[in-house]
Amino acid sequence: MSTFVTQKVPTYYNFADGEWTESTSNELIESYNPATGDLFSYSQKSNVRDVTAAIESVRHAFLTSDWAVNPKRRYEALLALAEHMTKNLERLSRILTIDQGKTIRESRGELAGCIDTLKYFAGAARTVFGRSMQLEPANFGVIVKEPIGVVGIISPWNWPALLMVRELAPALAAGNGVIVKPASLTPSISAEIFKLIAEIPRFPKGIVSLITGPGREIGAAMAASEKIDMISFTGDTATGKSIMETGAKTIKKIALELGGKSPNIVFEDANLDKAIPIIGRSIFISAGQICMAGSRVIIEESIKETVVQRLKEYAERLKVDNGLLETSDMGPLVSQNQLDIVQSFCDLGHQEGTIVTGGERLTGGSHDRGYYFKPTIIDGLPADSRVVQEEIFGPVLAIQTFTSEEEALHLANDSDFGLSAGVWTSNLNRAMRLSKGIQAGTVWINTYNKNFPEAEFGGYKQSGLGRTRGVDGLMEYCETKHVHIEV
Ligand code: NAD
Repeated sequence: MSTFVTQKVPTYYNFADGEWTESTSNELIESYNPATGDLFSYSQKSNVRDVTAAIESVRHAFLTSDWAVNPKRRYEALLALAEHMTKNLERLSRILTIDQGKTIRESRGELAGCIDTLKYFAGAARTVFGRSMQLEPANFGVIVKEPIGVVGIISPWNWPALLMVRELAPALAAGNGVIVKPASLTPSISAEIFKLIAEIPRFPKGIVSLITGPGREIGAAMAASEKIDMISFTGDTATGKSIMETGAKTIKKIALELGGKSPNIVFEDANLDKAIPIIGRSIFISAGQICMAGSRVIIEESIKETVVQRLKEYAERLKVDNGLLETSDMGPLVSQNQLDIVQSFCDLGHQEGTIVTGGERLTGGSHDRGYYFKPTIIDGLPADSRVVQEEIFGPVLAIQTFTSEEEALHLANDSDFGLSAGVWTSNLNRAMRLSKGIQAGTVWINTYNKNFPEAEFGGYKQSGLGRTRGVDGLMEYCETKHVHIEV
């Protein structure tokens, strides 16, 4: 047994109508620590009956409590959750690392992001204002912002704490009732955060619920439910399409945060001392399992050799090991399945291009038990290669080159995705031209991966629909009503 395994394997329950409940299926999901392969937790393998009951309880709380009309209560509840999470930061970080595999430093950063998001949206709960206008003599319009009703949040496994809280905080701040379904690979951290929610009396009984279980069954039931008014989904583009199709039958609002294949464009005049570690981190953070991963680097031909050599050195210096070790720079992939997917892309990369470094599973000693993969760089791929076009969701960086600004822009936009991009140059005019031309929800100039609760985030093209974070992120969770007064 690994030294990193907690002695007792915990069982997590659903949280509905203010109570911890077992699924009526009497079945459990087993979760494994990706660093060691050890069993880490059990959670409920819920069915449609469980999810239907939970939706009813959230709807009841939404209709009968003062939540929708009491912004100060919402502010106090969200702030209390931020405070509880702050007190539990170290314990939660450890659970997140064992649940998902990422390094303990990454877990602390993810949970600090949750706390910052909760604080921002606690304040924002008191700013859900409309506007008023005079429209004709003796005719006044009042535009009112109201909660949508019951929101279903379906979240992925790669950043399971932040991507849940990123949606939960604004949905609750706007006054909605919420039912959350986390990914089955990483239910533990969501359940731990819900344990803190359960201790906060400012949340009305039943206003927020957690149901674990298979996405194709209970996630799809949420998308189909007439009692859910909006689905907020973060995950794979193919799943997002299926949720849109299902949700169309009840014309519910759908917000989608989907995949990416984001480029970093590096010009000859870039500050490489700054760029190299940030570009390296943009793809190897979370072992590449991050939607905004800088998975393509598009380099000006004249500096290609230097940039590739320096990125290779960066990748080979990374210490890939159990995320609980403070010295680890990169943890394992989340599962054997993810390892197989990443390996198959690298095999293709080997056939179609040249592996600069990595390209295979990391083995030997304790690595044999986890799902470790070497930080990988692949060069010489055709632009239409699946390795260049598809989201791999692993530590794999594809190299592309250009000789003109137009070509750089063309390559950056030559993708079905449009989540984010980085531009590295000391020419501000060029940076601004590219920021206008790049079809992506976020363009970072001379930096990457900088995210703030107050700045909108989301996708162009097949990377999503709607925006999360910021004022627009709060408004996603609001209905707009015109109340007209004639005096
Ligand atoms: P996934 O689509 O497989 O699963 C996401 C969630 O959807 C899980 O809770 C899953 O159980 C559920 N689900 C699965 N099938 C469903 C269905 N038919 N109906 C309803 N729900 C269903 O995604 P994943 O593998 O967990 O996450 C990785 C993906 O998420 C990547 O594509 C990544 O780019 C994307 N992502 C996007 C963002 C963003 O902000 N744009 C952030 C993180 C991850």
